Amino acid sequence: MRPLHLTESIKNEAYQVGFDLVGISPIGVFPESQFYKEWLLKGHAGEMKYMERNPTKRADVRQIVPDAKSVISCGTNYNTPYPYSTDEDDKMRGWIARYAWGDDYHDLMRARLDKLAGYIREQSPHDVDLRHYVDTGPVLERAYGKYAGIGWIGKNACLINQNIGSWVFIGEIITNLELEYDTPAPDRCGTCTRCIDACPTGALLEPYQLDSRRCISYLTIELKGIIPLELREGIDNNIFGCDICQDVCPWNKKAQITQDDSFAPRTGLYNPELSYLSRLSPDDFRGLFKDSPVKRTKRKGFIRNVLIAMGNSGEKKFLPCVEECLSDREPLIRAHAVWALWRIKGSGAEEVLLDLMVKEPDEGVRNEIEAILNIVGS
Ligand code: SF4
Ligand code: SF4
Repeated sequence: MRPLHLTESIKNEAYQVGFDLVGISPIGVFPESQFYKEWLLKGHAGEMKYMERNPTKRADVRQIVPDAKSVISCGTNYNTPYPYSTDEDDKMRGWIARYAWGDDYHDLMRARLDKLAGYIREQSPHDVDLRHYVDTGPVLERAYGKYAGIGWIGKNACLINQNIGSWVFIGEIITNLELEYDTPAPDRCGTCTRCIDACPTGALLEPYQLDSRRCISYLTIELKGIIPLELREGIDNNIFGCDICQDVCPWNKKAQITQDDSFAPRTGLYNPELSYLSRLSPDDFRGLFKDSPVKRTKRKGFIRNVLIAMGNSGEKKFLPCVEECLSDREPLIRAHAVWALWRIKGSGAEEVLLDLMVKEPDEGVRNEIEAILNIVGS
């Protein structure tokens, strides 16, 4: 089949298998690849060490498929018809990022890419080479998405499509096939700075520059240990990820709604009640988040986040839940329960903190108590 016909049939098939967006870019070392290396050097990836692995492969996919000629970028819309986090302000409830309400998108995206890759093999010469990735591969997927024309990289660092918005998962197929290429999507952010202005932790240092170490998505999902004291207030009630810089984006005002049921919120996960979540046992957590992106934090990381949201609420009604967490077997949970207790009780927590300090077997938790006592005493 000639490149033009093959390209058209691959794109048709991509829509048939369920993708909402598809575009094709040539192989290249784009300016974004250099930017990525600088971003790593500045330490903006925080503890995401996997980002530092294979930076050369990320920058040039010919390290993955040696005679690669094309990258087929595919997008799936995950936007469901529920309000944005910026529309909700119930302090008794937390916020889970929109992408994590339903099933884990990796499985769904992989299944669609598998089908598309199978189709390409059937239609192509026998020496076709293909590799596909969703998130996991060392590919700069947003940059390839941009050069494939499926969206531009916004000042909030997300890929934005002018029809669908930014609620999009991206996956790609790298191949040695020569195909017809799309033109890069133009940047349509213009003079807008709403995402930068709205970011509660100042993680968007300037347009297109995200310091993950300050980003709530990083702090509540990627960071495995204690969340720095000075960043907890900005987390507000976000208990898994953060949607704010996408919620305020004008391109998401009329974002399309997906037809895919897999992304609809599981029962109780849309703007969930914090008290219920703080009491999840290990079995409850496993059951509730089976095949869900939320399981990534494990129970201890998730309840850590819930306790920060409780502390930020200042609600006395949460005290029984927080007190139960003070005796959780996980030191990470106890450490953040101490903070939540102090945030809710204020200086009235001092006596309890001194008592906890004596009984606490874990050094990390004792350090946390000491840090808070120092704030109380200062
Ligand atoms: Fe800021 Fe939240 Fe966007 Fe991260 S996800 S850059 S914290 S608004
Ligand atoms: Fe671009 Fe404005 Fe959207 Fe930010 S909020 S990504 S500046 S359009």
